[in-house]
Amino acid sequence: MLETPHVVVGAAIAASVSNPMLSLPLALGSHFLLDRIPHWNPHTYTETEKYGKIRNSSMIIASVDTAIAFLIGSYIAYTYLPDYKMSFVIITACFLSVLPDVIKSPFYLMKNKNGLLKKYINFERSLQVEIGIYLGLLTQLLVITTGLWWIFG
Ligand SMILES: [Zn+2]
Repeated sequence: MLETPHVVVGAAIAASVSNPMLSLPLALGSHFLLDRIPHWNPHTYTETEKYGKIRNSSMIIASVDTAIAFLIGSYIAYTYLPDYKMSFVIITACFLSVLPDVIKSPFYLMKNKNGLLKKYINFERSLQVEIGIYLGLLTQLLVITTGLWWIFG
């Protein structure tokens, strides 16, 4: 799944579960659950295996997605100010919600073929439920909308 829906759901969990000792692990765990929702992703893994690097179009999609995720996460945290503690918890939840993907970046960026990392990537990939681009983007748009409604509705 793209990073934006992960971040919105992570923030929504932090916004609704008042105890961070509970909300933060839940934000992390939500990542694996969300990846089970049928979705579309750029095929970064297949491209890295096939061409030795990620295609430019996929790199652009990933960069735009990361930028949007960062902006939305920051904005949600900002709306909780001057409650600095809550803003901090929201930011932390956002980070944890994408951590399972962030861990994979050395593989793509530095071509790290570390055995443990490769094992983890295979595990993470095995959880993905991928469908076509149109329906696969729609499901993610629904996740984002639901998350935002959950926070601000
Ligand atoms: Zn993932």
